[in-house]
Amino acid sequence: MNDNIKRKSFIDVSKDSDFPIENLPYGIFYTKENNSLRVGTAIGEYVLDLAAADRNGLFKNISPADKEIFSSKSLNRFMSMGKTFHREIRKEISDLLDENNSILRDDDKLRSECLIHQNDVTMCMPVEIGDYTDFYSSKDHATNVGIMFRGKENALMPNWLHLPVAYHGRASSVVISGTEIIRPKGQTKADDAESPSFGPSRLLDFELEMGFFIGTGNNLGEPINIDNASDHIFGMVLVNDWSARDIQKWEYVPLGPFLAKNFATSISPWVVTMEALEPFRIKSEIQDPAPLPYLKSSGNNSYDIKLDVLLKTPSSQNAEIISRSNFKYMYWDMYQQLAHHTVTGCNMRTGDLLASGTISGPEKGTYGSLLELSWRGEEPIKLTSGGELKFLRDGDELIIKGYCEKDGLRIGFGEVTGKILPAK
Ligand code: MN
Repeated sequence: MNDNIKRKSFIDVSKDSDFPIENLPYGIFYTKENNSLRVGTAIGEYVLDLAAADRNGLFKNISPADKEIFSSKSLNRFMSMGKTFHREIRKEISDLLDENNSILRDDDKLRSECLIHQNDVTMCMPVEIGDYTDFYSSKDHATNVGIMFRGKENALMPNWLHLPVAYHGRASSVVISGTEIIRPKGQTKADDAESPSFGPSRLLDFELEMGFFIGTGNNLGEPINIDNASDHIFGMVLVNDWSARDIQKWEYVPLGPFLAKNFATSISPWVVTMEALEPFRIKSEIQDPAPLPYLKSSGNNSYDIKLDVLLKTPSSQNAEIISRSNFKYMYWDMYQQLAHHTVTGCNMRTGDLLASGTISGPEKGTYGSLLELSWRGEEPIKLTSGGELKFLRDGDELIIKGYCEKDGLRIGFGEVTGKILPAK
């Protein structure tokens, strides 16, 4: 059970805020007044500066040896410290922000030092990512792409229902929300062309994904058992895995994606912990055929996380929704992904990012890429702001929002955004 449910903070949190006291996500930020990077948590429209809180002696569970964990340019050290420690710190933060606790509430000097309006902070990459793996775990997405690339008969490859397919991605180009994305150039070949050509990608796409961060890793040669997989997962972020479909189509056989995916992957700045997401666990889809024993997971291993994709064009005032999806559409769950990834003995390290792969639901309005939403450009999306959309144009801004909602409790991820700049 989550002991934080139904608490109230002395900080005003509006009903539609992503960041009530039950959330408490972690991120890295700086301010104009103090440009050193540090750890904060979001509460309503504010950030609680955890480094400042620690400096003022507000945490009892942090030993002198660990004094620097919040005055750090990444969450990595904190993430590595294990679930027991994370639970203690979460409880301390939650107590500190509770409406009945006067320590911070009634101390104006302490408040001005520790609480900063979100408008006054700049969010940074939360994690130093060593390795990034991207799965391909949505059955509807894999089926749709399979139909487009190989035809209906060969849509799902024979292995797909037996293992969570993935590829090793590029960690160096994972960027924080708001980073502008330069249209990549590359080699492509039109179906009717005799030879390939080189130039800016013409089929630039987004991929609606979520990712999880490894808290504590495993030693080389010692797989993570599926029953312990949750102990190793620190929290989740929104992911946009930008993709160049024309480059992908020409290069992907036989080893899978390479340059089509390595130019940028954007993530949201707040890492929402698994503790905060606990109330939103739901039953996973029944898997048929049954997976091999090392991939057998039981219980509620899926999560009900609503995902909205919005587009803002240079000529439109407001962003408009182009897809409404949900993390629950995943066929393979995170525990299966982690067990599979390490079953050879492959070692995970603190800060590794494992992403879901494009999340598509069964209906058109729930697809997680333009490739599917516009059916490779053959059925353009009609925009309410005027015009049609097949793939991303220069100047387009893509926004993904994610949140869970149940019984008056809303736990959100904020958003991940990125604007397309012309090729260089
Ligand atoms: Mn992807």
